[in-house]
Amino acid sequence: MNVTTLPKPPRVGLVSLGCPKALVDSERIMTKLRADGYDMSPDYAGADVVLVNTCGFLDSAKEESLAAIGEAIAENGRVVVTGCMGKEADVIRNRFPDVLAVTGPQQYEEVVAAVHDAAPPVPSPFVDLVPEAGLKLTPRHYSYLKISEGCNHRCAFCIIPHLRGDLVSRRPDAILREAEKLVAAGTKELLVISQDTSAYGVDLRHKAWPWKGAEVRSHMTDLARELGRLGAWVRLHYVYPYPHVNDVIPLMGEGLVLPYLDIPFQHASPSVLKRMRRPANDAKVLERIRNWRAQVPDLAIRSSFVVGFPGETEEDFAYLLAWLEEAQLDRVGAFKFEAVEGAPATAMEDQVPEEVKQERFDRIMALSARISADKLARKVGSTIEVLIDAVDEETGGATGRSKADAPEIDGEVHLRDAGALQPGHIVLARIEGADDHDLFGVPF
Ligand code: SF4
Repeated sequence: MNVTTLPKPPRVGLVSLGCPKALVDSERIMTKLRADGYDMSPDYAGADVVLVNTCGFLDSAKEESLAAIGEAIAENGRVVVTGCMGKEADVIRNRFPDVLAVTGPQQYEEVVAAVHDAAPPVPSPFVDLVPEAGLKLTPRHYSYLKISEGCNHRCAFCIIPHLRGDLVSRRPDAILREAEKLVAAGTKELLVISQDTSAYGVDLRHKAWPWKGAEVRSHMTDLARELGRLGAWVRLHYVYPYPHVNDVIPLMGEGLVLPYLDIPFQHASPSVLKRMRRPANDAKVLERIRNWRAQVPDLAIRSSFVVGFPGETEEDFAYLLAWLEEAQLDRVGAFKFEAVEGAPATAMEDQVPEEVKQERFDRIMALSARISADKLARKVGSTIEVLIDAVDEETGGATGRSKADAPEIDGEVHLRDAGALQPGHIVLARIEGADDHDLFGVPF
């Protein structure tokens, strides 16, 4: 009998930094490498080459990226760098001349080629398989779905358009095929991400493609509806409050899309928004939110805000707090303005002193915690659906999320007497308590 001895595949270590979009890039790269016959290494020592996917959004993120590269060089020595910081290849090469290759964001072919050069693949028809949904770095039951790259806006504090270029939307049929595979492989929640989800398809002039015997337009509403028909939770991130977002709200009423909108408002004061050069800077936003909530009363709105933007006065900040009281947003993340090299806001006059930024940050966080606590307290006694993320066998408890909670950034639902559950289960739970950000309950 002839027995074929399988060659040992080369092993790749991965350090993935940055936002969910960078995580999706890492997933794509690793999926391709797995398809090419590579194994993953959980540590530096076992890796033939280490891939560092960097983030270059803020100066602090750049420093973190450089530190990660330095650690990989020290621990392993054979390092390929990719991601947003790859745009600054000179900085990386000056500091780490031993780096094998530096590639930029979305240069999937280049980064895969660099790994091939550093540790050539050993082809084998027996092992060159990849799971239907690709190799995922998030848990099996939720998946990020990237629908476009880049951004047509030029917000004064942001260098993403410089790093990633103008908006390039994916074809809707390709997105839907990917989503279908993910759902077939066990995904219970699709997290739609991009720099500007409401602008999806603008670059394609909202052209339609054939899909399941009909057509689907490259438009946020059509895409959201078709995603909703796949049977998983669909959560929309990075939505700007353009008028056409009104058309997505009925899809929430129909149960096709989660009653959740992640809208990065960043500020409320008209003068700050103007200096920030924010899109959809519209005085009617509060009215629009009221209309949405009239249609979908359990709509959860999350947003992020920058405090201490150059020129922000106490009056501007007070306007923001009053606006938040009025808007009653469910989830709020705040950031102190950070000057980023290359962003126009960095060179603006009237930079706000650090201690003022900190004081405003503390005030906005305190206000948003109070609003959140009030809203969560009203859920005590209700029964809600919870998607289980983790089960603690020792305590018999489980942690999950309601429809109002995105992973990593929002609150959690802590369940007692839930040891029989598994990650990915969706259960009904009765809510027994609440704090500033989380709910506590028991499976129903
Ligand atoms: S909308 Fe503004 S903040 Fe968001 S990626 Fe585009 S330029 Fe940056």
